[in-house]
Amino acid sequence: MRKLASIQIVNGVEPIPGADAIEKIRVLGWWVVAKKGEHKPGDRIVYCEIDSLLPERPEFEFLRGNSYKAAQTEAGGTVTLPAGFRIKTVRLRGQVSQGICFPLSILPVDAPIEEGTDVTDLLGVLKWEPPLPVGMGGRIKGPFPGFLPKTDETRVQVLESVLMRNRGKTFYMTEKLDGSSFTAFLRQGEFGICSRNLWMDEADESNVLARVAKALRLEEKLRTARERLGFDLAIQAEVIGPGIQKNKYALKEVTLRVFSVLNVDAYRLVDQPAKVAVLAEIGLESVPQLGTIVLDHTVDQLVALSEGTSTLHPQVQREGIVLRPLAEEYDEEIGGRLSFKVINPRFLLKYDE
Ligand code: AMP
Ligand code: MN
Repeated sequence: MRKLASIQIVNGVEPIPGADAIEKIRVLGWWVVAKKGEHKPGDRIVYCEIDSLLPERPEFEFLRGNSYKAAQTEAGGTVTLPAGFRIKTVRLRGQVSQGICFPLSILPVDAPIEEGTDVTDLLGVLKWEPPLPVGMGGRIKGPFPGFLPKTDETRVQVLESVLMRNRGKTFYMTEKLDGSSFTAFLRQGEFGICSRNLWMDEADESNVLARVAKALRLEEKLRTARERLGFDLAIQAEVIGPGIQKNKYALKEVTLRVFSVLNVDAYRLVDQPAKVAVLAEIGLESVPQLGTIVLDHTVDQLVALSEGTSTLHPQVQREGIVLRPLAEEYDEEIGGRLSFKVINPRFLLKYDE
């Protein structure tokens, strides 16, 4: 699980050219802009990652002007995300700043303060999620099924040691698309579809995912694949197009791009070469493939590599890249498949409203 708020050590403090009131500090693989002199290397602090939603408490009130987000409610009026202060990527004096640091004094006196301790729940920090796009409602069948992996990706900035351990390994890169997560599966003869967190009713076409599944004849495609391969499979994809995340790629209709294929019978992710072959066979497009690299990169070098425009629209900054080894593997530290995202800072500054 991602630690949104944790105890960390300041690894370095560096000046920002042309700025005399602020400086940048290094925490994990992140750069954070802070008031000059506030931190020194070795200091223990509470670090909150971008996408943290801090609760309305006096010590966070100074954020109200720039960061306040009203509560999100469902059609019925139930609160799905309370009001709070959202931490996002900003640029100060040309320096990208990601996250925010607080003194340990914001914690209760008896709180554990070992490096790496997760204090997300202790502080009441939640994960900011943008409001559900229109058309993402519809009948729900249940929670996300336990027989499928969720589609989350870890940010590279917390994986410095994972990068180190995997030096010399070949990774393939794909473009990270900014749409909505989608899964379609077959399981013991049953076809189903899921949003990022829910199992949705594939027959309720008020939901855009159900419509895209039908338009692309996904059930038929998965059944054909089952005949050929001999196992039930699931595809995990990003749904993109009009009505979704402001349709950044200016597409004419809603479609999807696949980033994972799962052997449902064996609960095993299909390796990259076989995945590309399966998709070609059943006629589904994958997320844009950006080639391979032999990993020998620092976090900052990967962040530089993530910058660029989208394969789907040359005038649009891409959201970032996702890196995975050619053969799927489990990583203990990540607590899941070896795979991570590197977000293009230019994208965050432009779109992350
Ligand atoms: P985030 O959108 O920041 O929550 O990052 C994780 C999500 O990225 C996954 O749940 C996918 O829905 C989405 N995604 C978009 N493009 C890709 C890609 N090329 N590879 C993997 N995941 C992707
Ligand atoms: Mn996303």
